[in-house]
Amino acid sequence: ESFSSKAQTPFIPVKTYDVKIPFLNLAEVCEVLENTPSRLAKQDKLEDFFDFIIKNDTSQLEVVTNFLLNQLGPEYIQDLELGFGEHLIIKILQESFGYKVASLKTKLKEVGDLGQLTYKLRGEMKTVFAFKSKSDDQQIFIDDAWKALNEIARINTHKEKIGKIRPLLSRMSPVECKFFIRFLEGKLRIGSSNQTIGVSMSRCMLKYDQTRGISKGMDTTEADRVLRKVYSQVPNYAIIIDKFLDVGIKELEFKLTLQPGIPLKPMLAKPCKSALDALSEFNDAKTGEKDEFICEYKYDGERIQFHQLNDGTIKIFSRNSEDMTTKYPELVDFSKFYKNKDEVQSLIIDGEIVAYDVVEDKILPFQILTTRKRKNVEIEDIKVKVCIYVFDILSLNGESLLEKTLEERRKIYMDVFETKKGELQFANNLITDDESEISAFLDQSVQDKCEGLMVKALTGRKSIYQPASRSKFWMKLKKDYLQGIGDSLDLIIMGAYFGKGKRTGFYGGFLLGSYNPDNDEIETCCKIGTGFSDGHLDQLHKILKEYESEIAPSNYIYDSQTKPDIWFSQPKLLLEVLCADLSLSPVYKSAIDITGNNRGISLRFPRMIRIRDDKDYSMATSSEQILEMYQSQANLQ
Ligand code: ATP
Repeated sequence: ESFSSKAQTPFIPVKTYDVKIPFLNLAEVCEVLENTPSRLAKQDKLEDFFDFIIKNDTSQLEVVTNFLLNQLGPEYIQDLELGFGEHLIIKILQESFGYKVASLKTKLKEVGDLGQLTYKLRGEMKTVFAFKSKSDDQQIFIDDAWKALNEIARINTHKEKIGKIRPLLSRMSPVECKFFIRFLEGKLRIGSSNQTIGVSMSRCMLKYDQTRGISKGMDTTEADRVLRKVYSQVPNYAIIIDKFLDVGIKELEFKLTLQPGIPLKPMLAKPCKSALDALSEFNDAKTGEKDEFICEYKYDGERIQFHQLNDGTIKIFSRNSEDMTTKYPELVDFSKFYKNKDEVQSLIIDGEIVAYDVVEDKILPFQILTTRKRKNVEIEDIKVKVCIYVFDILSLNGESLLEKTLEERRKIYMDVFETKKGELQFANNLITDDESEISAFLDQSVQDKCEGLMVKALTGRKSIYQPASRSKFWMKLKKDYLQGIGDSLDLIIMGAYFGKGKRTGFYGGFLLGSYNPDNDEIETCCKIGTGFSDGHLDQLHKILKEYESEIAPSNYIYDSQTKPDIWFSQPKLLLEVLCADLSLSPVYKSAIDITGNNRGISLRFPRMIRIRDDKDYSMATSSEQILEMYQSQANLQ
């Protein structure tokens, strides 16, 4: 059997709807959202729109939501990416509107972005195409647009893609063209994060339930909590909306739970600075209350979720919900690790994959793991062997284990697996509340080529598995950073400065930013030029040059004094960065809305430690996290 990615991709059929809702309605909402700066006002507008859709045709809520999230389907399904680069869109515009490339590029600089440019070009053609008096058979409906987008994603050649897009643009009004093109580009720029969309959706759901006399006694805060919780376990709006229509928002959290085959959002950790810090989180000096906790090695590899489906299929997902099954073909024969094969029908495991030297019997550095091909690996070609370190189990034989304590979950996975050295092991651990023992264990973890420790609540409610949450119930304690700010940051590359001397022709440095999910903005926090090897710079140049742009995307928040030589039209890559400390800055913008003194926060002496291509920009360190780190640093001084 080959592991071709296509063979693994379930085809999502695109429905045809009886109720026809014009695509223009959707485009106009996007336009309104773009022009509404306040998050609360955006939420209201979105809620009104969802109300409108659900009243007309409940089943179209899913398509509309995915459109607003700028995705064709859930993240974990491959081959649903559009991500058209500037070059291809310019070509589409050239063929659709008959301008020369150079003149399109000049116009692009004037208007700011490709969507806006399409709007303008289409508007100028109104005498040719009478889009205002469109007859019904010319009109584009939401399902037409959606079907077309799905087809375009599956077509291979540029020529065919353009062939499909051109006639559509000629049937669309300027505002429809604008958001159709922006969707293709992967940048709707409506300034609404997943969070905002979720809040509006949960309110619409609650209101709808009230009209059908269910979900009584629930308020909007509660509805928001439920939708968030369910989405973190089953990040697929098609499934959620279907279930909601069936049972209502109140019952949703009881009727929908994680399913093998659908990667849930992993639980995350907060940084802490010392063994003492970690200890004091669990031992309350004031009340004398003590919570039990466990220290585990923090392995330096790739976070993975291992799913065995009922039919025995194995799927391996990255931290980013990407399907990595074809990267690790040697692991799909997973049942060899079960103590009793007959007792396992399905499961979901949380763990870390680490490069392993089987001859020397030791863990290899993360860099070695990155040399493995990302897709379609053939077993015969594998040079870098890997070991799975299991540290959690989230589901077994169809039962969700999220609500069990970590102590209970540990017992369960220890019962399921037979460890095999260098192939599947349990995370090395220590249970103690002695500070010096924790410190010694931390030293030992670093000697054993780990990043440090994870310190986790072991018993009681604090120790349940909370998908997508970053709390003090999981803490990371890293040796390297104890002197600095306690952790590394994952920051978004916004632009670059051209290199000099031996870096001529490459980028020499980058402008980085943190993510503000409130309004989907990226806020500058430092320039960086240290820590890059020639190999890194080469790799970054190869990936990013396609996104070079003279203009900054509208959601980049920066000061003209830090303007880079070239912008990147998409927040494509993240860098993991260390720094000496954080300080208030007159020019950088990170957390500027919340520092309270109209200054942003910037990193001092930043140094790159790794390219993080396993996270997308919405997973970057948030501006709020930077503020928290800044404040905790101030407390210590
Ligand atoms: P980092 O840069 O620290 O990996 P992150 O944002 O990817 O940051 P964090 O929540 O900060 O994730 O740290 C947890 C990460 O540590 C997990 O995502 C996982 O990849 C890794 N890890 C290694 N060993 C363990 C363990 N025993 N338990 C939990 N996570 C572990």
